[in-house]
Amino acid sequence: MTAHSNDQNFAQVRASVDAWLARPLQMLIDGRWQAAHQEAHHDVIDPSTGRVIARAAAGTAHDVDLAVRAARRAFDSGPWSTARPAERAKLLWRLADLLDQHADELALLETLNTGKPLKIARAFDVAHAAECLRYNAGWATKFNGETRPVSLPGEWHAYTLREPIGVAALIVPWNVPLPMAVSKIAPALAVGCTVVLKPAELTPLTALRLAQLIKQAGFPPGVVNVVTGLGGEAGQALVDHPGVDKISFTGSTAVGKKILASAAGNLKRVSLELGGKSPVFVFADADLERAIDAVARGIFANSGQVCAAGSRLFVQRAVFERVVSGVAERARKLRVGAGIEQDTEMGPLISAQQQRRVLDYIDGAGSEGAQIAAGGRALQRDGYFVEPTVLVNTTPTMRAVREEIFGPVLTTQIFDDDTLDQLATRANDTDYGLSSSIWTRDISNAHRLARRIRAGNVRINAAGALDFAMPFGGFKQSGWGRENGREGLEAYTELKSVAVDLSA
Ligand code: NAP
Ligand code: MG
Repeated sequence: MTAHSNDQNFAQVRASVDAWLARPLQMLIDGRWQAAHQEAHHDVIDPSTGRVIARAAAGTAHDVDLAVRAARRAFDSGPWSTARPAERAKLLWRLADLLDQHADELALLETLNTGKPLKIARAFDVAHAAECLRYNAGWATKFNGETRPVSLPGEWHAYTLREPIGVAALIVPWNVPLPMAVSKIAPALAVGCTVVLKPAELTPLTALRLAQLIKQAGFPPGVVNVVTGLGGEAGQALVDHPGVDKISFTGSTAVGKKILASAAGNLKRVSLELGGKSPVFVFADADLERAIDAVARGIFANSGQVCAAGSRLFVQRAVFERVVSGVAERARKLRVGAGIEQDTEMGPLISAQQQRRVLDYIDGAGSEGAQIAAGGRALQRDGYFVEPTVLVNTTPTMRAVREEIFGPVLTTQIFDDDTLDQLATRANDTDYGLSSSIWTRDISNAHRLARRIRAGNVRINAAGALDFAMPFGGFKQSGWGRENGREGLEAYTELKSVAVDLSA
């Protein structure tokens, strides 16, 4: 039984998606569709079945070079960096409209490639991507430098200019492929950069469909190029390429560090959005039902494959049993299945490797003395499913508590009458610093704890709550720089100061 199986529209969308997938998928380079230089390709898998659903081009250094040169031309002598801001805004807005028009198809592709529930792919992933384009389209005409009141002798006119950095390499992971790609493309294009996007090897589908819509929207050739392929090959070639001015990367901390080292070659500007191990505090005075719901959503959404997932739960002793059993009950009730199946609430993990990794963490925690309050196993069916899992009796030194699992696994710990400083010390006992949330009705305590947590995002009586106006990014080993908001666009610009001596 598939979602919308009685729906004629769905049957049509399914047929057109199947036809699209049946052809070898090519890359968009300089406005043209191209196979990989060596005609090589890799298989694309549906993680809810393990079956091959498409073949994508396996781009190499040669293809990357063509793409970077095309982006260079479109930037240096081409139309984009000098396009009127209103023109850039119009094209971004037009692309957003095309995403809306093709939302069913994009959602289905995302679901087939990641296993995530179709209605979530439609309501969140695709809708979020379209809104991201509109948010950044708005900035294109409002992104300005400023005049500065200099104190030099004489009479001066001094101002700053925000100029596009140049060619931006955008390297994204597999967990939310479409929103992630758009969250980098939109601000980069809004300020006048040209880009080369490399989607994750596992999830090239929506990036390639997006590339078709970009062409259809009328972006000039070379402004957006999409090269598929392996991280170690196509990704590495991008990072090493002297024609790239800026890298924006989202993915693992290990690869982030590697990218940083490679970027030293020509001192590329680098933004890194890396992993997290985000704490969630639930105080006894909180609205517990809301907190329980949000904690469960915060760790099980997208099968826990979310960098900002609240994965370390701290609950005040008086309500520990109630909160943890509430989350465990939600874990047991979640309908786990293929995203294409009606009523699925949680899909599989992205790959066999990720499934093994998550199960290893659960087993490891068990042998270190943790107990399983819910879940803990793989599903006995094809595909890479792991049950939503809640661990109790976990301690701060366990690997499952220290390392990012990137799966549906919640670790839980008790706190008593710890001071806010003590709680912050526990929250900050991690290499990461991406996100956090605090559940309490004592609002001044919440604000005081918020100041003490070393993380880029704090949510009070809320989880997730991502908004394009709010900067998103990490302290410590969760990354460099911020996405979203004005800061998200600034990351694709250089700042120039101009001073004119008016008395000359
Ligand atoms: P990853 O290896 O860091 O991959 C992210 C992107 O970087 C992919 O496009 C990848 O290509 C590419 N890449 C890999 N090696 C590269 C290199 N040497 N130079 C340039 N690009 C390179 O992450 P992953 O393998 O997808 O996931 C591993 C772990 O990363 C997860 O378990 C999780 O801890 C973390 N992660 C974090 C986020 C986040 O949002 N912060 C998202 C996903 C994963 P390939 O696809 O070919 O590897
Ligand atoms: Mg990888």
